[in-house]
Amino acid sequence: AAASAAELLCCANARALLDSVDAFLFDCDGVIWKADKLIDGVPQTLDMLRSKGKKLVFVTNNSTKSRIQYANKFHSLGLSVNQDEIFSSSFAAAMYLKVNQFPPHKKVYVIGGEGIGQELQLAGFTALGGPEDAEKRAQWKSNCLFEHDKDVGAVVVGLDPHINYYKLQYATLCIRENPGCLFIATNRDSVGHMTDLQEWPGAGCMVAAVCGSTEQEPIVVGKPSTFMMDFLLQKFNVSTSRMCMVGDRLDTDILFGQNAGCKTLLVLSGVTTESTLDDPSNSIKPDYYTNKVSDILSLLGE
Ligand code: PLP
Ligand code: CA
Repeated sequence: AAASAAELLCCANARALLDSVDAFLFDCDGVIWKADKLIDGVPQTLDMLRSKGKKLVFVTNNSTKSRIQYANKFHSLGLSVNQDEIFSSSFAAAMYLKVNQFPPHKKVYVIGGEGIGQELQLAGFTALGGPEDAEKRAQWKSNCLFEHDKDVGAVVVGLDPHINYYKLQYATLCIRENPGCLFIATNRDSVGHMTDLQEWPGAGCMVAAVCGSTEQEPIVVGKPSTFMMDFLLQKFNVSTSRMCMVGDRLDTDILFGQNAGCKTLLVLSGVTTESTLDDPSNSIKPDYYTNKVSDILSLLGE
């Protein structure tokens, strides 16, 4: 559909939005928190939505934590969110393998953090690499072969603050030499918030490194890919036309919601500024926009 201008959220359309929606999908960073800092008014807003019987789901592209670790993060910020309301790209990677009947005797090589390994393990898969290979060095000399496990049937790449040449060689050999080896990316975000003050390179550049060496494109399981949406729709009995995706990024969150036919609300508390939104070269327009999630609360006068 042609992009029409986003509407600024106001009393009237906020009430109409609330009445027309049964479930809210929340992106996390930039909406609920910024790094480890809770965004103002979030607890009260979530409480109000729950008290009105709205289903709440949290969808994050940040693969560094598992769902259990995210539930702990929510709790430590004073938010009561259940593990099964959380869909992280680490969980999505494990569920992608499960849904596609990845053979449990095969192994998964990980470039990424602890969260991916934990989710793979919980799903019954054997994970190699990840934090374990953080200190490894790639060695090459004549007559010296870099050995990799021929039973690796999938490589999962996410944000890895300890990415190194050893891991790149390992992943590259698996993808290039193990027949049928899958190449899965948790997400392709260009940058992420490692602190609340500054952006750092995201998983996108690490995925790009493996694209470069393998000359292959990955299967992406995070936003805006439809995998996570299809998966969560099977868990919750809500029609997408009665769902609203709330996010701070146009090319992941808003596109993710739009692709599924959800209503979309952009908040300016994260990476997108009002001038990006107004830029005519940007073709992704949310239905509504507002400064921060808690505006819903104040606009409704609650
Ligand atoms: N990936 C990383 C490494 C991040 O640090 C972030 C945000 O901080 C994201 C992805 C995006 O997360 P979300 O989808 O919750 O905005
Ligand atoms: Ca975000």
